[in-house]
Amino acid sequence: MERVNLLDFDRDGLTAFVEQLGEKRFRATQLFRWIHQKGASDFDTMSDLARSLRDKLRDRAEVRSLPVVGEHVSADGTVKWLFDVGAGNAVETVFIPEADRGTLCVSSQAGCAVGCRFCSTGHQGFSRNLATGEILAQLWHAEHALRARLGLKEGERAVTNVVMMGMGEPLQNYAALVPALRTMLDDHGYGLSRRRVTVSTSGVVPMIDRLREDCPVALAVSLHAPDDPLRDELVPLNRKYPLAELLAACRRYLDAAPRDFITFEYCMLDGVNDSDAQARALVRLLVEDQSTAVSCKINLIPFNPFPASGLLRSPAPRVQAFAAVLQRAGIVTTVRKTRGDDIDAACGQLAGEVQDRTRVHERLVRAPVKVLRRAATMQETKA
Ligand code: SAH
Ligand code: SF4
Repeated sequence: MERVNLLDFDRDGLTAFVEQLGEKRFRATQLFRWIHQKGASDFDTMSDLARSLRDKLRDRAEVRSLPVVGEHVSADGTVKWLFDVGAGNAVETVFIPEADRGTLCVSSQAGCAVGCRFCSTGHQGFSRNLATGEILAQLWHAEHALRARLGLKEGERAVTNVVMMGMGEPLQNYAALVPALRTMLDDHGYGLSRRRVTVSTSGVVPMIDRLREDCPVALAVSLHAPDDPLRDELVPLNRKYPLAELLAACRRYLDAAPRDFITFEYCMLDGVNDSDAQARALVRLLVEDQSTAVSCKINLIPFNPFPASGLLRSPAPRVQAFAAVLQRAGIVTTVRKTRGDDIDAACGQLAGEVQDRTRVHERLVRAPVKVLRRAATMQETKA
């Protein structure tokens, strides 16, 4: 009989499991604290649990993390782990230390079905959804490994922020995502506030609405284009959920969001989406046109090139000029620092070892970049 993985449960789920074992509900909270707050996996160390419960747990359950197949530490302190998720697949997790915080970038799927043009995960195709326990194993492992390594005292945290910006589209793995988020927020789990947990999505509109109902954490939306024709090319999901619908969902989300803005991510691609005309189009879309405007910040991400993409990073002065147009229109705009460049830990470089079952890669490289450039030029002429 395969043992139940206790990392698969949020506290409600663990409570139900503990009750099934014929134990009192409050035992679940004790167990949850041992697992997530102390990083324990050996039931015998859980000294305030009755021996009878520990025996039952040993028979039926385990705390099953993911095997680490690689760990790289960058010169700037960024740490990247590669976790084996079976069947030749691996996912990546990145820890980014800063003076006032420690951010963990967590994966939600092995591969990704969205197939964004500029994303190396997208080029790999989709392999499978991660289970809740596999999403949480990344945080569990990182938090407790870092605490030991950094010599943190009881109660001190290594990971203060989580961003679901690793491999995969979190809102296409919704059922596993929500219990993982709840565990991150739980005071008996990782105790992170809703504004310190960010879900990043390429725009799965119905799931944005569900997240608002079920677990409204901070939301980042990967925009990358100011108009539908270009976004259709860069983020194929746009054909299903075009900009007007996406931005309407963002506005609805603000009612429940822990912050009063949505963060839009915009990956700067040389000659594709980085002209002044496109920046002005973005201002019209997000500020001036009342039918689409939404309270937001924009995070410009310098594209991290990988050979198969056929795309190039916008030059730094171009990024600055683009940012200036947005800033003049009153949009708070930041340019993301690239971290962990030397260990391929930057956005969109997370490729793991995913088996390509959908052949997205071939589809993408076959589509000529010319199409994108044409779309970009069209927009400039229109503007
Ligand atoms: N699937 C989700 C979250 C994972 S991707 C999403 O798309 O939002 C996290 C961020 O990295 C997204 O904003 C994505 O657009 C960006 N990204 C992907 N590939 C990139 C690359 N090669 N260079 C820079 N950013 C990239
Ligand atoms: Fe998937 Fe996000 Fe990469 Fe697009 S950018 S392919 S949605 S992981």
